[in-house]
Amino acid sequence: MKNRLTTQKYILWTLVLSIAIGLFACKTDSGPKYIPPAKPKIAKAIVPKFNKDSAYHYIQKQVDFGFRVPGTPEHKACADWLEQKLRSYTSDVMVQTATLTGKDNKQYPMYNIIASFEPQQKKRILLCAHWDSRAIADKDNKRTAEPIVGANDGGSGVGVLIEIARQLSLKPANVGVDIVLFDVEDQGIDNVEHSYALGSQYWSKNPHKPNYTANYGILLDMVGASGATFLKELYSMEAAPQVVNKVWKVAQSLGYESYFPNVRGGAIADDHFYVNRDAKIPTVDIIHYTQETGFGDFHHTHKDNMDLISKGTLYVVGNTVMTLIYSENPPL
Ligand SMILES: [Zn+2]
Repeated sequence: MKNRLTTQKYILWTLVLSIAIGLFACKTDSGPKYIPPAKPKIAKAIVPKFNKDSAYHYIQKQVDFGFRVPGTPEHKACADWLEQKLRSYTSDVMVQTATLTGKDNKQYPMYNIIASFEPQQKKRILLCAHWDSRAIADKDNKRTAEPIVGANDGGSGVGVLIEIARQLSLKPANVGVDIVLFDVEDQGIDNVEHSYALGSQYWSKNPHKPNYTANYGILLDMVGASGATFLKELYSMEAAPQVVNKVWKVAQSLGYESYFPNVRGGAIADDHFYVNRDAKIPTVDIIHYTQETGFGDFHHTHKDNMDLISKGTLYVVGNTVMTLIYSENPPL
């Protein structure tokens, strides 16, 4: 009996000692401190987990095709892949084609790729991004006449949206979602009005379905750089202030205020401008922009490659949009 008691005491003391050592070890750990994100106010249980590795992989995949410059074989190969990929997540996919004339008088074959989820739902959210990459690196100081791979400018928004498509196929949302990948966004001439966003200009006047509309829209553009900030862009604030506030509020409730600050940005004539003006769908632009560096030193340069892409930023944007989608019942 005495022996047994001693053994029990021994075990007990060993346990106490181990815990104490454990605690001590934790306290003296000099590694970076883990700061848990603020608790989301929206029921997290209903929101599937956005997979940042998948999103990253989908960006890599686009970049691996090479330059997605309209009219090139690489561009067409990527269009085919995007269509097939989306078809693996929904049977409701269509490709809108046209030949567009740019302000540079060049002809651009256009492929707007559209994937719909829950077509029976009246309430719909439009999610969009452009998928072409720029034919010139005009803001670089070397090889300015060569195209850029556009990992962030083009690739990132599409990567996030394909991952959202995958999630929607696994767990349908209580709202309809239409993903539109716009083509020929990035072949414009700086300071020439309406020279950018040709694919969205076309779609906004000729939607893929007659009388198509959505309750609101979100455009993702350059959403993958590490340390990105997304300001409340001016056209978004003018045309869809309630949507801006809704998106930023959700992001902030998830602890992402450093990415989505309550700071107003300038006016950016991105795809959403035409979706607002011509398709009359209140649409906001989540676009990388800082007051110090504007679009960032990578913009329209050869720096816009995979080295720039942060899985953390992809997760912040993906989780924000997913939280919005899966919380969309009751309505806005
Ligand atoms: Zn661009």
